[in-house]
Amino acid sequence: MARLLIVEDDETIGKVLQSRLRMHDHEVVWERSGRGAIREATVAGFDLVLLDLGLPDLDGIEVCGQIRRVQPECVLVMLTARQDEMDVIVGLEAGADDYLTKPFGLGELLARIRAHLRRGAPAGPVRPEFTIGDLVVDTGARRCFVAGREVTLRTKEFDLLSRLASDAGMAVSRQDLIADVWDENWFGSTKTLDVHVAALRAKLADAADAAAAEEVTLPRIVTLRGHGYRLDSPAG
Ligand code: CA
Repeated sequence: MARLLIVEDDETIGKVLQSRLRMHDHEVVWERSGRGAIREATVAGFDLVLLDLGLPDLDGIEVCGQIRRVQPECVLVMLTARQDEMDVIVGLEAGADDYLTKPFGLGELLARIRAHLRRGAPAGPVRPEFTIGDLVVDTGARRCFVAGREVTLRTKEFDLLSRLASDAGMAVSRQDLIADVWDENWFGSTKTLDVHVAALRAKLADAADAAAAEEVTLPRIVTLRGHGYRLDSPAG
């Protein structure tokens, strides 16, 4: 699919990003230093670079500028722990296309990457939209449709459904769901997740019933005991 370069010295974040992006069939190179990143970007072409601003050897802004010089076409997304807006502005001037402030939800990052990669493609929507059977999840407009009828979802129900839809057919752990939909530092009861899943199932089933005139094919939210959930396409 796409060739991605991750520049991140944090082992945990780097590892998660690498494995998740590979799951989506992307070719991923992970560099832990600014010098390594510049070297890599000089010898190989990339569609998208995820660049952490806080690197051990070089200033991330400088790395950003150097990568931009040798890869004028690629999408550059900065990851920053800095809250200082100046850094972001300087980063954008150095050639970044987008930025995310840490801590960010993995789901949000993956959705943005998908949107950027689609934008680079000749055709296709810019906003991440998922169509699975008769279910449409439009993350740009934050609207959900079952067989063409809109389903009203609460904020977290929508976030949860988009997160599952973005990885349809794949197991998503409870940990990931809670981190992406609620907060990385969620200390509340994880029962909250199950309550939201139950509500989602009920609302989707009601919507399918309401459209009973035709046969409606909806994905199922499958419970994976001891792990998490998976959104299964109706055919699978
Ligand atoms: Ca760092």
